[in-house]
Amino acid sequence: MYCSLCNEKVLAHTRVCPNCGAEFEKKYVKKRVRNEYATGGLIMSFLVPIIGFICSIIGLKNARLCEGKGKVRSVLGIIISVLMFAAPIVAVVVVIKTGVLNGLIDQLTELISGITG
Ligand SMILES: [Zn+2]
Repeated sequence: MYCSLCNEKVLAHTRVCPNCGAEFEKKYVKKRVRNEYATGGLIMSFLVPIIGFICSIIGLKNARLCEGKGKVRSVLGIIISVLMFAAPIVAVVVVIKTGVLNGLIDQLTELISGITG
């Protein structure tokens, strides 16, 4: 890069110009901000929904500090973790309400009593 004051060529990530001593803006040395909670939360929402949910909420808060990075991932992580957590409960309720397994349980009971009896 070049110094904005004296146009001297300087090394990248240099804080001070060796020619004129001008200080460069922090944007040249600014480290990359990453929102790891957003990515982690999204992955964990599939594996362990509760942890994914917590990580995604932290990721959503961090997104404000990270220039909005990871906001979409965090929202997705929250939605998926809620769905993943609710899916087994909904499935059990549906099975009980609709009586899908009733016939199967009867058959199993007959089968077991046939073996033992
Ligand atoms: Zn300079």
